Amino acid sequence: MTRYADFHRRSIEDRDGFWAEQAALIDWQVPFDQVCDYSNPPFARWFPGGRTNLCHNAVDRHLKDRAAQNALIFVSTETNQERVYSFAELHAEVQRMAASLQALGVKQGDRVLIYMPMIPEAAFAMLACTRIGAIHSVVFGGFASVSLASRIDDAEPTVIVSADAGSRGGKVVAYKPLLDEAISLAAHKPAKVLMVNRGLVPFTPVAGRDEDYAALREQHRHTEVPCTWVDSTHPSYTLYTSGTTGKPKGVQRDTGGYAVALAASMKHIFCGNAGETYFSTSDIGWVVGHSYIIYGPLIAGMATIMYEGLPIRPDAAIWWSLVEKYKVTVMFSAPTAVRVLKKQDPAALKKHDLSSLRALFLAGEPLDEPTAKWIAEALGKPIIDNYWQTETGWPILTICNGVEQAPSKFGSPGKAVYGYNVQLLDESTGEALTEPNQKGVVAIEGPLPPGCMQTVWRDDERFVKTYWSSVPGKMVYSTFDWGIKDEDGYFFILGRTDDVINVAGHRLGTREIEESISSHPAVAEVAVVGVADTLKGQVAVAFAVLKDPSLAATEADAKALEASVMKVVDEQLGAVARPARVRFVSVLPKTRSGKLLRRAIQAVCEGRDPGDLTTMEDPAALQQVKDLVGG
Ligand code: ATP
Ligand code: MG
Repeated sequence: MTRYADFHRRSIEDRDGFWAEQAALIDWQVPFDQVCDYSNPPFARWFPGGRTNLCHNAVDRHLKDRAAQNALIFVSTETNQERVYSFAELHAEVQRMAASLQALGVKQGDRVLIYMPMIPEAAFAMLACTRIGAIHSVVFGGFASVSLASRIDDAEPTVIVSADAGSRGGKVVAYKPLLDEAISLAAHKPAKVLMVNRGLVPFTPVAGRDEDYAALREQHRHTEVPCTWVDSTHPSYTLYTSGTTGKPKGVQRDTGGYAVALAASMKHIFCGNAGETYFSTSDIGWVVGHSYIIYGPLIAGMATIMYEGLPIRPDAAIWWSLVEKYKVTVMFSAPTAVRVLKKQDPAALKKHDLSSLRALFLAGEPLDEPTAKWIAEALGKPIIDNYWQTETGWPILTICNGVEQAPSKFGSPGKAVYGYNVQLLDESTGEALTEPNQKGVVAIEGPLPPGCMQTVWRDDERFVKTYWSSVPGKMVYSTFDWGIKDEDGYFFILGRTDDVINVAGHRLGTREIEESISSHPAVAEVAVVGVADTLKGQVAVAFAVLKDPSLAATEADAKALEASVMKVVDEQLGAVARPARVRFVSVLPKTRSGKLLRRAIQAVCEGRDPGDLTTMEDPAALQQVKDLVGG
């Protein structure tokens, strides 16, 4: 048995012994009296009896050894600002923010909604909340009023922390009008709004409600706010899923289990060491931002880069210039961002000294082989795919190089991560598949390991119904993704269970068809959906973005290109997988986090209401689909 196989087996068979050891990676004020209480499945309580604090573990704990070392590195290519906070400075700023929140009436257990751009005050606000036991709920900055209003009503915050504006690609996005509109739409009204004024857009504060952060900060410049020790199971935050498949779910996370899970992942998965620099290109509005911009790196005593801006502005070398300047050792991004870089000059990746960088981690959507190969070659560094969900808070599948070096396989995020008893379930019987190379639903046998969601915020019933009801009589968590495991234990994610289509009795994963179409030299990106068909049950329809749009300028060109794309699918997958139509669009409908909104495309193709679109990036993209299928 390999070292990793043994490590994983122990995490399942001697669950409590394994996690008790990992728990030593963080500080506890009061030790826990039990490792995992699973007496009421599927609700798992990790480290009950223990008392700890996330902010203490991320900030205060490091003052002894690294007070003067970099903690938070803020870089904005939108406002041309760059500011570095040491752990001591971060500690001071977090206390100023915590004192300000307390002055506005925030107490332990209260919710604080954070609607902010990627600026240091957003990080201070998150850490200030966990410092005083308040529950933060970060909502992606720039979300429309309706999306924000529904999250205000769900979280019922005492205070909202916001800013005058964000900026993207040089365009200023005023947040204040969106926030005011959202508060007027919401049934719940926050007592106070704490405004960080960046001076980007003038605004009129609402009298009696809006408070100026600069003034409060000054008032509390020297106020000391000690960490509030909370129960390990005390909720640290709520966060919404991306809304790719429907109405976003409010994920509730604990404190102790999360801190332990992140600390362990920094060691065994990311191999990040105290004193080094971590750079995650995500946004604090997403789970990657929570776990791997803010808490994970800081818990590990690393400096973390918070970057406001695009990957290609001022030029495609900007990220790599930061890697050089701050000697980044671990980097984390998403395939969607790599695809953006792929359209740029690859020389940009060679301009800077990347010798400090050990690996680039990618997550969020399937990493197709051409993209993986391109970035691996351009960087000359290991590319490590990792598969997880907002719900789990840290990777389910990846390569744990901190335990044992192992090769990656193209197209696979890797093996089951320690702590996760991952199974593939037969879709019709719910039985766990035992043979390699069989397709099934990716599932996790309960209890979920530390750090995963405790429940759906204020809705235990939805938690049980949504995630734990796919196999009657068995406590298994469904990821709603479809996968396959090879004889070496490497998983391959084939797409979402919703994205499986049934063409004349043949079950096809839309991802397989997409991968095939992507290999056509003219295609930059593609979405495939199943559309109801009276004859065949369902047919596949593809919407493709071309590298050069002029290739489909005339109807005849488009027809010829459509035929050549179909031919590629015929050759690679067989005629049964051939899409009924291949249509060309200039942009695909995506969520703000870059995920394809297949269900919206499918609904439009079938003439149905596309449902909850609150997380959609660009409504014009769906309009293009409408125009094509309607006309
Ligand atoms: P919602 O649950 O609201 O529909 P969502 O599932 O997109 O939205 P997230 O939690 O942000 O919300 O995304 C998790 C999903 O992203 C996974 O279930 C999977 O479908 C996909 N995913 C994440 N990482 C990978 C990866 N490395 N490879 C393939 N798919 C991935
Ligand atoms: Mg999901």
